[in-house]
Amino acid sequence: MTSPGSHVGPPVGAAEAVLAALDPEQRTAVLAVRGPVCILAGAGTGKTRTITHRVAYGVLTGMVPASQVLAVTFTARAAGELRGRLRALGVGGVQARTFHAAALRQLGYFWPRTVGGELPRIVENKYQLVANAAARAGLRPTREQVRDLLSEIEWAKSSLHGADDYPVAALGAHRDPPFEPVVVATVFASYDQLKTAQGVLDFDDLLLLMAAVIGDYPEVTTEVRDRYRHFVVDEYQDVTPLQQQLLDAWLGERDDLCVVGDAQQTIYSFAGAAPSYLLDFARRFPAATVVRLVRDYRSTPQVVDVANRLITGAPQAARLRLVAQRPAGPVPTIAEYDDEPAEAAAAARRCQHLIAAGTPAHEIAVLYRVNAQSPAYEQAFAAAGVPFVLRGGERFFDRAEVRDAVALLRAAARAADGDAPGTLVGAVTDALAALGFALDAPPAGAGAVRERWESLAALAALAADFAAAAPAAALPEFVTELAERSAAQHAPTVDGVTLASLHAAKGLEWDAVFLVGLVDGTVPITHAVTPAQVEEERRLLYVGVTRARVHLHLSWALARAPGGRRARRPSRFLAGMPGVAGKRFAGPGAGATGERSGRRSSGSAACRVCARPLASAVERKLRRCQSCPADRDERLFERLREWRIERARQQDQPAFVVFTDATLTAIAEARPGTVAELVAIPGIGQAKLDRYGEDVLALVTATPDRVDDPGSRRSG
Ligand code: ATP
Ligand code: MG
Repeated sequence: MTSPGSHVGPPVGAAEAVLAALDPEQRTAVLAVRGPVCILAGAGTGKTRTITHRVAYGVLTGMVPASQVLAVTFTARAAGELRGRLRALGVGGVQARTFHAAALRQLGYFWPRTVGGELPRIVENKYQLVANAAARAGLRPTREQVRDLLSEIEWAKSSLHGADDYPVAALGAHRDPPFEPVVVATVFASYDQLKTAQGVLDFDDLLLLMAAVIGDYPEVTTEVRDRYRHFVVDEYQDVTPLQQQLLDAWLGERDDLCVVGDAQQTIYSFAGAAPSYLLDFARRFPAATVVRLVRDYRSTPQVVDVANRLITGAPQAARLRLVAQRPAGPVPTIAEYDDEPAEAAAAARRCQHLIAAGTPAHEIAVLYRVNAQSPAYEQAFAAAGVPFVLRGGERFFDRAEVRDAVALLRAAARAADGDAPGTLVGAVTDALAALGFALDAPPAGAGAVRERWESLAALAALAADFAAAAPAAALPEFVTELAERSAAQHAPTVDGVTLASLHAAKGLEWDAVFLVGLVDGTVPITHAVTPAQVEEERRLLYVGVTRARVHLHLSWALARAPGGRRARRPSRFLAGMPGVAGKRFAGPGAGATGERSGRRSSGSAACRVCARPLASAVERKLRRCQSCPADRDERLFERLREWRIERARQQDQPAFVVFTDATLTAIAEARPGTVAELVAIPGIGQAKLDRYGEDVLALVTATPDRVDDPGSRRSG
């Protein structure tokens, strides 16, 4: 926001306006224009807002020349966000870049004058280089193993380890490399040799080299330090030792450094990030102004409550509890589904409702733990006609393994033309087996190998669904179906729901957030084994929860595919959340099943949960106080709603004429098994019974009670 009025010259009121937009603690950080500043604060408390206002205030008061400020962060998107916010505050000319972009620019400038000649090219295809290095080391890795080798090399370089000390370092850091550590070290060494031979650099080299050039060439040191005098780092909890080394080189003996971060949001330890730089900042700079912010301006008290509960389970002593500032909003929902397609379909439906009620699609996000979870959502959203934008991952049908598999299936379909082909599922299984895929043998651990298996398993699940829906269908029909799905998912979108991994969501915010696939084994992910790794998973979920401004939906599915074994358990991090009571959890105490209380017949006007007299008509319908915990069967409720939409359409009437939401809730809580139990629900009289009784009882029967009968499968 610029200053009011249109006078030219120093915007006198603008600096005051910048201060006025902050709370007292944020203002303290902004008024410490010079010297070391550290903001240690939770999600949504205005850290990013404070640093942009701090820069703006320094510039607008003339205390800090814009050209001397270097603001760094970790993603291009976040850097763009910083520049945008600064522009909005009437401040131009400040450099806001990622570490890599800043290093590239500086190195390009200084290289000819120091090392001489042009700066070497940045390697275009790191993957290919690693593949070649692996071949030189005598390996024949799969595509996924190459990707995992690359992750190891990137981790090592970010952590300032070379090929020679990789094995020891990897062991100490509990890495999970695709080959023996000494073998990875050999690949790493030949990767470096190949780069030198080809005269190319990778992005991490840029940081290393820029720090070295500053250290080795006094004239560069002088010039760089003269040019940049004020440093700001956002999301500092995720700084790597390599990035810190460059930051130190920029800074020298000076201390005009402002860092902001939240140790509770460290989610890149696996890639070398170390929150210790943030937490030890005041020890390193004893004169630092340290500010703690606790007011959460982003989320409703209901969302903040979930975040605080989640973090209460964490062992760290320095937990920051957030205090919500926004007005109350809807209670976050927690829902359990039979299988992943049902979970994804429900998310798509809820998004439809939100959009219909006025939330723009780009203000909604569906977040999952790994990109491999996206296919179910891509398909459900395409099927429901909800526009979406996939971030940070490849669209399902663009993935190499899926393209390979589809090509194979197409060839198999042509070859089988005219033959009696056996079952569709059998034909698909055979084709996928040619790619080394076995549905009953998921690879251990995570990484690219596991992602590939997940993709192919998703294709196998699609085939099973398709065969169930069209028993006479053969391979050619399935191949056509795949082509149509692929085309539907490629429809260009302008305003879409964001589908992204939890990692990709850091620093961002949406009105509505769906956190999906929250089963133990996914969150925390199976390969998180040490307590430290498990805690990083908890923080990841915390980052997810704190992205939501108003609407928050948490969900999971008991089985992967329809009809599969419903053996999964909700994430252990959800234990103790309101609305999760009665669900079964993995880990200690697993197997203890919750009690449903909905089957008792009532008749009295007392709450069936707390036995207090019921006050309102809605409470009498629910047979409990509105404030008492609901034990609605979410799957049954969703099915009842789908059925209601269909009936209402047939009758050409609004849905509430069939049943109100309160009545559907009452049915989904009571799960009536007989006509007598059905009419005991207030709101269901003889007319409704005659019209809908049979349908409703059939729906209840067809939707097995998730707790009483965990092993049962649903029919149809
Ligand atoms: P994260 O940890 O997720 O990066 P953050 O601490 O950087 O969060 P911001 O993104 O800066 O938080 O702020 C969260 C939201 O709260 C933004 O929409 C921001 O504009 C708003 N906000 C922050 N401080 C204030 C304030 N003092 N008054 C009004 N709104 C504020
Ligand atoms: Mg931020």
